[in-house]
Amino acid sequence: MTGLLGWLAASALLVAYTLNRINVKQRMEQAVIDDLVVATNRSLELSQILHTALDGILTSMEMDGGAVHLYDSQSNHMTLLVQNGMDASLVETLQTVPLQKPYNLISRAVAEKRPIFLENIRSEESSPYLPVELARNINSAAAIPLYTGNELVATLLLNSRRKRRFSATKVQFITSVAQALGLALEKARLYHQVSSEKRTMFVLNEITKVINSSLDLQEIYENFAVKIRELIDYDRCVIVLIEEDKMNVRVFLLAATHQTTLPEGQILPLANTSVEWVLQHKRPQFENDLSVNRLFYEDDALFKEGIRSAVRIPIRVKDEIIGVFILNSRRPGNYSEQDLDILEPIVEHLALSLEKYLLFQQVSVLSLTDELTGLGNRRLLRQEMERELRRADRYDRNFSLLMADIDFFKRINDTYGHLDGDQVLKQLAEIVHDHVRDIDTCIRYGGEEFLVILPETDLDGAVAVAEKIRGTVEQAVFQIGRNKIQITVSLGIAVYPIHAVTDEALLQRADDALYHAKINGRNRIYVYNVGAVEMPTLFGDLEII
Ligand code: GH3
Ligand code: MG
Ligand code: MG
Repeated sequence: MTGLLGWLAASALLVAYTLNRINVKQRMEQAVIDDLVVATNRSLELSQILHTALDGILTSMEMDGGAVHLYDSQSNHMTLLVQNGMDASLVETLQTVPLQKPYNLISRAVAEKRPIFLENIRSEESSPYLPVELARNINSAAAIPLYTGNELVATLLLNSRRKRRFSATKVQFITSVAQALGLALEKARLYHQVSSEKRTMFVLNEITKVINSSLDLQEIYENFAVKIRELIDYDRCVIVLIEEDKMNVRVFLLAATHQTTLPEGQILPLANTSVEWVLQHKRPQFENDLSVNRLFYEDDALFKEGIRSAVRIPIRVKDEIIGVFILNSRRPGNYSEQDLDILEPIVEHLALSLEKYLLFQQVSVLSLTDELTGLGNRRLLRQEMERELRRADRYDRNFSLLMADIDFFKRINDTYGHLDGDQVLKQLAEIVHDHVRDIDTCIRYGGEEFLVILPETDLDGAVAVAEKIRGTVEQAVFQIGRNKIQITVSLGIAVYPIHAVTDEALLQRADDALYHAKINGRNRIYVYNVGAVEMPTLFGDLEII
């Protein structure tokens, strides 16, 4: 910033020096210089600087009107940036000046790469260069191309009601000022570019903050999409992650400006999709107009919902492509190689954050897992109980707790040793795990005590699960070294909100029920009964306290 200010001050000084060197109305020039210096010190606004410069030039050159046009290389047009002293219809005409044909003063100066001074435009009426923009009350005009090195950056247009305004001194003056102006403009353009890079960095930092502050993947994605829109336009923003089997993908819709038909959060086959292409070619893929060409499986559906162009960028973690970041637009040709300058760093950031997130998940999975059995630990129990309590309350549902304890486990340890005892625990954990649903949570509660949280399960359901476990364990043969042994388990059941309404109390009820199963003979299921609630006896082994 200071560098640029310094430079602008220097370029103003160059203008000052130029103005000083030539002897045209010395005092006027001093005013131009002062104004320029003040403007450059006060503000980095390009148009403000140009306004000041243009004012000074018009006064020094004794001209009535002037304009600065910026060169747009993509459209090959000159675009009006600032003007002074021109009437409204002329300003309107001059908004954009095409350069394709040298049919006016500006395009002629650009084509001939030199300033053109028309001392009396009336005498040039037959010239093919005579521009529409020269209104009736204008008699002399000049167009000066402004360069940095060999690159055209802008043009300066001047006009006057009077004829013969361009003495040799004035021509020399304006030529020198034009040089300084060209440099100032280029610097301003660079400044804008730098600030857009800064903006990219800013948004990237914001994205990182968003990702680090949330542990909810969907929330991370959605905030990410909002930030990206500040940098690049899209109608649909999607992340596709490759499944472990490398045959399927999972689609996450981050944002869409319209109703989108492509399935979201679903697992879809990878074959023939753009994602497969990106995986194979390991580089970004562009589609410019789906109405002309549809290369991939998903393109028909995209086209039907109005999408015309797409960019797909690999998401790399270490050297592996773990997914693809996709932007779609309803506009044809909305994305080009140039956008990769912005998009690739963003996607790199996303990849880093995803990696961090996945790592965090692994760590937190570890911190919630019992090492020996792979079941959840007490920390997970607390977390899941809290969640179930909230859910059951909100939707007015039951949930049940099963507490299981191995019968006479001490004897197994005593007979075979602690390590072999551990093998029994592992195998039992598998049995328990295999006999419950995915949404149920299995916990190793104590040494040889297990808990199962059964969401949306009433007493009947809980008893059925308990009986399945009890029966299976009773039948199972546990392999310990060369020995085959059999064990039994006792189970206690408590149901929310029938037996208790807090997690502590519910655990206590299940424990009480288990205790009664033990003292009443083991290898059986007990349910804690609360006063008036009548419990049906569903199984021979099921007893009510
Ligand atoms: P019951 O439950 O039927 O009353 O009799 P039990 O012998 O199983 O008695 P209890 O549940 O009180 O005993 C727990 C025993 O389990 C004590 C200890 O020897 C064993 N145990 C606890 N944790 C572990 C463990 O991590 N590994 C092994 N191998 N044994 C354990
Ligand atoms: Mg026991
Ligand atoms: Mg025990």
